[in-house]
Amino acid sequence: MRRFFAAALCAVLACGLAACSQGGEQSADFYAMDTTMNVTAYGKGAKNAVGEAQTEVDRLESLLSRTRTDSVISQLNAGTANRAVGMEVWDLLSAAEKYSIATNGAFDITIAPVVSAWGFTTDHYQVPDQSELDELLANVGSVHIHLGEESIVTLDDGTQIDLGGIAKGYASDCVEAILAKDGVESAKVALGGNIYVRGSKPDGTAWRVGVQDPENSDGFVGILSLTDAFAVTSGGYQRYFEQNGKRYHHIIDPATGYPAESGLTSVTVVAPGNEEETISDPGHGTMCDAFSTALFVMGEKKAVEFWRSGGYDFQMVLVTQDGRVLVTDGLKDKFEQEDGSGYAYETISRSPS
Ligand code: AMP
Ligand code: MG
Repeated sequence: MRRFFAAALCAVLACGLAACSQGGEQSADFYAMDTTMNVTAYGKGAKNAVGEAQTEVDRLESLLSRTRTDSVISQLNAGTANRAVGMEVWDLLSAAEKYSIATNGAFDITIAPVVSAWGFTTDHYQVPDQSELDELLANVGSVHIHLGEESIVTLDDGTQIDLGGIAKGYASDCVEAILAKDGVESAKVALGGNIYVRGSKPDGTAWRVGVQDPENSDGFVGILSLTDAFAVTSGGYQRYFEQNGKRYHHIIDPATGYPAESGLTSVTVVAPGNEEETISDPGHGTMCDAFSTALFVMGEKKAVEFWRSGGYDFQMVLVTQDGRVLVTDGLKDKFEQEDGSGYAYETISRSPS
């Protein structure tokens, strides 16, 4: 059995040397939340912000990881009933519930036991028996999480939660708040496949964010030119194992318990930066992370319908197994296809043509 884990998923392309040397660049590379991360900030406040951002991501990992036995999430999963989790975690669980309902269960943090059964939590990969999956799926669904008053959370017996599909997005919202507090006007943040770009590059041009080619780890499907935005990519190519010549990836369809086979190979969700960060309302980074996972599960047709329903402020890039790249019209002028990428380009407008 082989296992694969691609760390860089949707990359902020390195700036030219001239831009990097301007305005006091401060940069940190680190490994957290099971992926590689980089925070680079420019100008006044950058040094503090970069250090604080790293500390913040570490704090969130200790709070939210389900592989750290002392985290609040592990304690909930261990079956400590009626546990006060603190308002920050309560708010994040409440956002997760909202996104689960909005996506008709395609995004669902109670998928945890199923993710474990496939071995994605321990790296001991296996294809579970259908009977085991059926048993575990009986405890999957946002109805099994009870968010009570005074930040008390109760999970039904057998239910566990996994914030792997949303925690890095939430961390990017928190890093944005730190950059704002420290007065940083230009920065790029890459928490694995969760990208946040603040302002523009120090030379005043837009940041260039590459959407990785799911079929070629060295190539890009295209480049997004973004300012003040979150861009989050989910794809089956990011983590998977192979058994008997078949590939099994880490994004599970809660309807089947199997890795989603929706005809999509990646989904990138883009939304504006948060104008005002409030701790009680996880921001656009969190939303993009939940939706990139959910839309990957939904597949092209449902993802496009969901976007067209207009309930949430986001744009998206879908890459399909049959070699197309679909870009919603709000990104049309911001997306540049890579020469020779081999994908057929289509735009999606609000109303069906
Ligand atoms: P992402 O890379 O943001 O798409 O998140 C994938 C991770 O979220 C997986 O590694 C699991 O930990 C978890 N996960 C898998 N399937 C789902 C799902 N349908 N809903 C929510 N989280 C999921
Ligand atoms: Mg996600």
